[in-house]
Amino acid sequence: MKYDVIVVGAGPAGSSAARLLAEQGVHVALLERTKMPRYKACGAGIVGRAMRVLPPDVKETVERECFTVELHMLDAGLHFTVTRHEPVVFMSMRDKLDRLLAVGAQKAGADLWEECNVLDVALGAGSVTVETNRGFLSASFVIAADGSTSSIAKKAGWRETRRLVPAIEWEVPVDKEIFEKFANSARFDFGPVPSGYAWVFPKGSHLSVGAATMKRGSVGLTGLLEKHLWSLGIPLNNGVVRHGALVSSRPRSDDLVKGRVLLAGDAAGLADPVTGEESISFAVVSGQAAARALVAGDFTETAVKEAYLKAIEEKILKELRPAMDLGKLLYGPAAIRNHLFRLKGQAVCEAVTDVIAGKKNYSELASKVPAYARRLLIPDFTRIFSRQDSG
Ligand SMILES: Cc1cc2nc3c(=O)[nH]c(=O)nc-3n(C[C@H](O)[C@H](O)[C@H](O)COP(=O)(O)OP(=O)(O)OC[C@H]3O[C@@H](n4cnc5c(N)ncnc54)[C@H](O)[C@@H]3O)c2cc1C
Repeated sequence: MKYDVIVVGAGPAGSSAARLLAEQGVHVALLERTKMPRYKACGAGIVGRAMRVLPPDVKETVERECFTVELHMLDAGLHFTVTRHEPVVFMSMRDKLDRLLAVGAQKAGADLWEECNVLDVALGAGSVTVETNRGFLSASFVIAADGSTSSIAKKAGWRETRRLVPAIEWEVPVDKEIFEKFANSARFDFGPVPSGYAWVFPKGSHLSVGAATMKRGSVGLTGLLEKHLWSLGIPLNNGVVRHGALVSSRPRSDDLVKGRVLLAGDAAGLADPVTGEESISFAVVSGQAAARALVAGDFTETAVKEAYLKAIEEKILKELRPAMDLGKLLYGPAAIRNHLFRLKGQAVCEAVTDVIAGKKNYSELASKVPAYARRLLIPDFTRIFSRQDSG
């Protein structure tokens, strides 16, 4: 079967791309290896920044609105709370969210192929052929939105230039009394996980908890999260559902387009390096940018590539670069991070909340924070290193 565009993966990136293409009258297939709704390891905290680019009916999947964000630097005894008049994080579940987005694309006119696993991809002169468990399909272009483990990127010839780090996500049923303690805020804890953090997100009636580290290799995330939850008084009973996944802390450094294949979302490594997650927004924006570039570039290789790379630079990479600097500060030596937060913790939390709420961007933040952070931290760097030398 021949399409104009094949989109691989019905996550937020893929469904957003397919929907926009179908709305433009493009003959598009959305291929998804699972049957939806399906579980996806994700906190499914939809931040304000993401809500702005998602279709309005996404609100139907929201189980709880959090107007408050808590940040605890447990290793330094520092605690910060930011409360806003509008929700900062909309708590959803990815099975519901992704199904709604995929059905949205289908209603717009995309052919949704579920339980369709793409096994291989072959780049031809004027088309791309994909081999699936349900046969061969071809298209003028393929958008690979197949997530952080993207096999399409590998098959299409990309080498690995993202930085993939581990994360875990558990769904924890708790009794009403414990639930109420965590029901009103999105909670982030620094300290229990080296170069990372843990979170507690309240959903309809259970808690989604997780942890991520920016360190590659094993840091024993499972044991660390168990210990942390025990310290918070969150029991892990039989009903706990445990999942793990990879997140990208650095985007691909080679092009996001090869011939007639475009990478979007986690496949491209477009994740937020400050929060480590909160990346549904970048998935949606990149999926939509891929769709727009195909139409604007009139399905011509060079014009499509130029339009897509320009959009990604403008809409995402410009944001991610300063965010990576802030990420280094957060996930670098804990002593330095804690020193900064002792001095300016509330201001940093307010500013990052503005960014995830979609009211400011990292570029604005970076123009202020690293300047004073560097000034304030340089003497401390010197002291820390001289202490180590003399010790
Ligand atoms: C533990 C954890 C917690 C997170 N928490 C949050 C959060 O609270 N808020 C937030 O904004 N972000 C969060 N993120 C990040 C967020 O999950 C991702 O950035 C987002 O899912 C990326 O969307 P995507 O569409 O690129 O890929 P995905 O959502 O991964 O979708 C890819 C899709 O492709 C399908 N697929 C894969 N291979 C094939 C194939 N060969 N053939 C057909 N289909 C295929 C998969 O089944 C999947 O449905 C979290 C991530 C992790 C790991």
